[in-house]
Amino acid sequence: MGKQSEALFQRAKEVIPGGVNSPVRAFRGVGGTPPFIEQAQGSRIFDADNLQYIDCVGSWGPMILGHGHRYVVEAVKKAATRGFSFGAPTSGEIELAEMIIQAFPSMEMVRLVNSGTEATMSALRLARAATGRSKVLKFDGGYHGHVDSLLVKAGSGGATFNVPDSAGVPKEVTALTLSVPYNNLDAVCAALAENDDVAAIIVEPVAGNMGLVPPRADFLPGLRRLADNYGALLIFDEVMTGFRVAHGGAQARYGVMPDLTCLGKVIGGGLPAAAYGGRREIMELIAPAGPVYQAGTLSGNPLAMAAGVTTLRAIGVPGVFERLEQVTTRLCEGFLQAAHAADVPLQAAAVGSMWGFFFAAEPVSDYATAKQHADTARYARFFHAMLDRGVYLAPSQFEAAFVSLAH
Ligand code: PLP
Repeated sequence: MGKQSEALFQRAKEVIPGGVNSPVRAFRGVGGTPPFIEQAQGSRIFDADNLQYIDCVGSWGPMILGHGHRYVVEAVKKAATRGFSFGAPTSGEIELAEMIIQAFPSMEMVRLVNSGTEATMSALRLARAATGRSKVLKFDGGYHGHVDSLLVKAGSGGATFNVPDSAGVPKEVTALTLSVPYNNLDAVCAALAENDDVAAIIVEPVAGNMGLVPPRADFLPGLRRLADNYGALLIFDEVMTGFRVAHGGAQARYGVMPDLTCLGKVIGGGLPAAAYGGRREIMELIAPAGPVYQAGTLSGNPLAMAAGVTTLRAIGVPGVFERLEQVTTRLCEGFLQAAHAADVPLQAAAVGSMWGFFFAAEPVSDYATAKQHADTARYARFFHAMLDRGVYLAPSQFEAAFVSLAH
């Protein structure tokens, strides 16, 4: 790593825990020093030593147009001249909400928040209020932000009450969280049969936080059916997949309508914006319309609204998702061919403009098989070899990668 990044990392570690403001940025999964990024343009990022990289991370999903898209830059500049934050309603919030609702027919109303974590945390509170039930069912390796009750480790085998994944989360808080293997409807069925007060099933409809693991054909329709049979709400956490695997997210791609949806990443175009939404009668339980409290000083921030609305407008043009998918598929196929030619065991998959790969000889269908089959040491070597050649991949085997329109 360059001298400037090394020096900045040392300095950062003195004042910021681990030197970073989100753990994976510290490169613990692959070792070494992270480049400190100074600027970005299109598909490239540039570090403090003026080294440039093709960016396959895209800020972990938001940068679907690529970096520094001129329409977004203009929109944010214009919004900034009018004021940064008012703590009062603005028309930009309506515009973003209307664009989301138009793209996602399962949502009749949305509430805008600042991060994906806030969206999932609030959606759970709402689901509990709407059903009068307490428990929540998630999936092993599913990540929904750092919400206390969702920081639950992979359970082994069937449904189990899980232990907290993080220090500082009392076991009482996660006692209401069930976790079962992804892509396993039998486990979901068993968990729902054993627990009569499950308020909601929360799922990443395309898993992106255990590496990329697509849903089996029957998985999402099966979740819809089981949620209905057992009176639980189905929450799609589309923070990563919304406006990413298709314009209308995974629910449009797979034709399954959830009760509640969480969005983030792309809808802020790189500024902090997220949302949760669903049917009117559920959403009207939220304060001040109803009794479920949820609020935010900077929610619906005008700069974030400008970036989000402009980004959604730019990807709303016909042909955008076809092009993104073509590029992603080509990349993935080329990767598989190269690995095959080099006799390296590789599993790679692409869904829309998300893609991912495991150095594994066996297929990966859930968190347990990802952990079991993926060669993380090989990934770390590959990651650094790519970084040295100017390609910035996710600094962990268990993350998805993203293609932008600038790639
Ligand atoms: N849900 C999913 C599926 C995510 O991938 C993430 C973040 O990566 C979150 C929720 C949390 O979002 P945020 O980091 O904006 O709090």
